[in-house]
Amino acid sequence: MLVVQKYGGTSVRDVERIKNVAKRAIEYKGRGMDVIIVVSAMSGETDRLLNLAHEAAKFPDEREVDVLISTGEQVTSALLAITLREMGHKAVSLLADQIRIISDSSYGTARIASIEEEKIRGALKEGNIIVVPGFQGVDRDGNITTLGRGGSDTTAVALAAALRADLCEIYTDVDGVYTTDPNICDKARRLDKISYDEMLEMASLGAKVLQIRSVELAQKYNVPIMVKSSLMEGKGTLVCKEEMIVMEKVVISGVTYNKNEVKITINRVPDKPGIASRIFSSLSDANIVVDMIVQNVSHDNYNDITFTVVKADAKKAFKITEEIGKEISAKVAMDEDIAKVSIVGIGMRSHAGIASKMFTILAGEGINIELISTSEIKISCVIESKYGELAVRALHKHFGLDAEDVREES
Ligand code: ASP
Ligand code: MG
Repeated sequence: MLVVQKYGGTSVRDVERIKNVAKRAIEYKGRGMDVIIVVSAMSGETDRLLNLAHEAAKFPDEREVDVLISTGEQVTSALLAITLREMGHKAVSLLADQIRIISDSSYGTARIASIEEEKIRGALKEGNIIVVPGFQGVDRDGNITTLGRGGSDTTAVALAAALRADLCEIYTDVDGVYTTDPNICDKARRLDKISYDEMLEMASLGAKVLQIRSVELAQKYNVPIMVKSSLMEGKGTLVCKEEMIVMEKVVISGVTYNKNEVKITINRVPDKPGIASRIFSSLSDANIVVDMIVQNVSHDNYNDITFTVVKADAKKAFKITEEIGKEISAKVAMDEDIAKVSIVGIGMRSHAGIASKMFTILAGEGINIELISTSEIKISCVIESKYGELAVRALHKHFGLDAEDVREES
C-alpha cells in the first residue's frame, strides 16, 4: 500500500511541528505502508521570499523568482529527511529535478507534464520514506519552475496519480472542508464527503482549503483526497467522485461568501452587434478576469450590461469601460459595496425549486438581490455588502446545514 501525504505551511512551521510530521510518517510505515511526503514551505516563507525579490527589482526576472521561491520547500524537505533519519528511519529528500517532475516553462504558474516513476520506486524499495518539496518542477531544459501559489497540493495529487497511490492525504490547519466559513456562521460543520465538482465550485468561490488545480487533477485521474488536520485527530473530509457519495436529504453542500468583487454597470448600451465583444475583449486584453455578466433585455434598442471583477482590478476595469462608454455615449457606474453569496450542491441537478427557495430566504431577511448567476450546481446572488453575513447564516439555516440539524455519517 502506498500513501502520499502533503503537509501545508503551518504543519511544518518549525522543527517541533516537523517532528510531528515525522512521527506520523513512521507510524504509517510501521503499519506496512510505503510513504511519500510532500511538504510546503514554512508558513509565511514564500511571501517573505517574494517580498525580497520585489525589494531587489520592481519587475524581478521570472526565472530567477522561481529559483528563489522554490527554496522554501527545499528547506522543509531537507529538515524533514534529517528529522526522520535522526529518529532512526531511512529517508531521502528528492527534488523535482531528481525525480524529474517535468513541467512546462511558464514560470510561476507551470503545469506538470510528467513524473518519472523509476527513481521513486527504487528509493521506496530500499525502505526509504521519501520527502518531496511541493510547488516545484523542472522544465525540459532543466530550469526550475513553480506551480502557482498553493501548488504543493498539486505536487501531492500528481505524485499520487503517477504512482497510483492508494491514499492521498492533505494535512492542513483545518480539520476538513466546511459547509461555510465557521468565522461567519458558528453552525458551520465539517463535511464527511464532497464531490470534485462541488469542491471546484467552492474553491473558485473562495474556499481556500485546496488549490483548484489539484482538484482538477484529482478529478481527471480519479484520486480521492482526504483533507485532514495535522494538529488534531479527526475524520477529515474526503474529496471524491460523485458516485462515492450517498445522497442524503440535503441538496446543498455549502454556502460561500465573497466580499472581494465590485460591480460595474454600463447604462444604455446601443443594442447592436459587437459592443459586448469590444468591452470584454478590452478587459481580457488587460488580463482582467470577469466573473458574473448580466445583460438585460433591451428597451427601445438600448440595454444595460453589468459585470463583476475582483477589487484588485476594479480601477483598471472601470477606466477601460469608461473609455468605451464615452465613445458610445453610455454612462458607466461602479459599486464597491457588494457581496456575493452562493449555494453549491450536486443535488441541484435533480431537485427543482432550489433557486426560488434561495430567493425566498433572502427576501425573508429583507435582502434585495442585485444580480443572479447560475451554473449546474451553483447559484450566486450579489447583494449589498452589509447583508452578506446575515445572508450566509440564513441560507445555511434554511437549507438544513446547521450543525444540530444534520446527523453526522458514521
Ligand atoms: N509555498 C507555496 C505557497 O505558499 C506553495 C504551497 O504552500 O503549496 O504558495
Ligand atoms: Mg497551502
